[in-house]
Amino acid sequence: MSSENIFVLSNGESVPVIIENRRGARNVTLRPKTSPNMEIHISKPWTTSTKFVLNFLESKRKWIEKILDSVPKKEKITPNIIISILGRDVRIIHDETMRGNGYLDADKTTLCIGGGVDMFERRTREFIKNELLVEIKKIIKTTPRPYWPTHITLRDTSSRWGSCSSTGTISFSWRLAFAPYEVMRYVVMHELSHRKYMDHSPEFWANVSMLYGFGVERAKRWLSKNGQSLHRYF
Ligand SMILES: [Zn+2]
Repeated sequence: MSSENIFVLSNGESVPVIIENRRGARNVTLRPKTSPNMEIHISKPWTTSTKFVLNFLESKRKWIEKILDSVPKKEKITPNIIISILGRDVRIIHDETMRGNGYLDADKTTLCIGGGVDMFERRTREFIKNELLVEIKKIIKTTPRPYWPTHITLRDTSSRWGSCSSTGTISFSWRLAFAPYEVMRYVVMHELSHRKYMDHSPEFWANVSMLYGFGVERAKRWLSKNGQSLHRYF
C-alpha cells in the first residue's frame, strides 16, 4: 500500500512523494528519483507516521534539491521546433485542420501534426515512435532470419537502450529516434546478436561487428557520452 503526497521544490515545481509502508522496515529510507519521472520514494516502518516522514523530508531539502536539480530540464515540444529524428533535422508544424495524426513530407524535413494543440506533444511522440519502429523493422530485415525477434516493443527506459528476452522479444528505448541513425542501428544489431549469444562474450561482440560492420566502438562511445541528451524531449 502506498499513499501520495507532494513536495514543493524551491523553484516552485511539485514532486510527487510516494510513501510505502514496508513490513519489517526498521528505518525510513528516502530515494529521490529523476527518471522516467521526478518522484521521491520513501519507505517506512508501519509505526512511523506520515507527519514524521514529511518533516524528515523537509530536513533533507538541500540534498533532495541537489539531486533533482542535476536533471537536464525537458525541452517543450511546441509548433515549429526543429528536432533531430532518425538523424535528420525535422521541423514539426501544427495544422489543426488536418485530419489524421500527422505526416512527414517527401524530403522528410517537415512533420505536420494534426488535431488540437493540447494533443500536439502526444501526437508528435506517437508519430516519432512509429517512424522508429518502421526503421527498426527495415534494419532487422537486412539480417538473416534466425536473428529476427519474435516481438518488438518500444519502451521509455531510463538507462537501457535495448534488451532481449530469452523468448526472443526485443525491446528498444523509443528515444533512440533522437540518436544519430548509425547509433540507433548499432543498438538494433546489438540486441539482435543477443538472439544468438545471451552474454557479452568476445563471440557476442564479434557477432555485433559482423552484423553492424565497422564502427561499433564509435557508436558505443556516442551513447555513453550523449545518451542522456536523448531524454531532452518529452
Ligand atoms: Zn547487451
